[in-house]
Amino acid sequence: MLALYPGSFDPITFGHLDIIERSSKIFTHVYIGVSNNIQKNKAFFSLEKRKEMIEKAVEHLPNITVVTFEGLTIQCAQELGVHCLVRGLRAISDFEYELQIAATNRQIDPHIETTFLMAKTEFSFISSSLVKELATYHSNIESYVPQVVVQALVEKGGKDIGK
Ligand code: ADP
Repeated sequence: MLALYPGSFDPITFGHLDIIERSSKIFTHVYIGVSNNIQKNKAFFSLEKRKEMIEKAVEHLPNITVVTFEGLTIQCAQELGVHCLVRGLRAISDFEYELQIAATNRQIDPHIETTFLMAKTEFSFISSSLVKELATYHSNIESYVPQVVVQALVEKGGKDIGK
């Protein structure tokens, strides 16, 4: 079965990567769909840069393809011929938002199911915004994001990040 794991991934974190690794064992092929979430403020990294960083971070996995898309996740899933969406749940705070999206998506296309993977405890507090905030103030982010992201944040924000 094919799956689509959609998100902003601005940037990818070890939390996202854990969800990707676990889904790659469940599904025959997993598409990572990188999108601009209009509910969030302007993205920090461009779509292409986010895609490039994910591709580097998932190099060790054979059954992953990274795509970018604009518009609705459900339309992207339909175009890819995918019948299963993957989302990660960190805490109760994620639940309400995810429930709303899943219900809306089911309304639009009842043939596409949403599956949820619970975040690993050690990654459950990690978010892309936390990482960006830490990086802005030159705090160490190496235990939260892949090396390719540390480098990208260093290039964008200053050479002390990651030290
Ligand atoms: P979106 O803007 O669509 O919420 P995100 O990149 O913030 O995109 O998150 C994509 C998905 O990954 C969401 O389902 C989110 O709950 C999940 N996720 C984010 N961080 C983690 C984490 N640390 N552990 C597990 N899942 C996560």
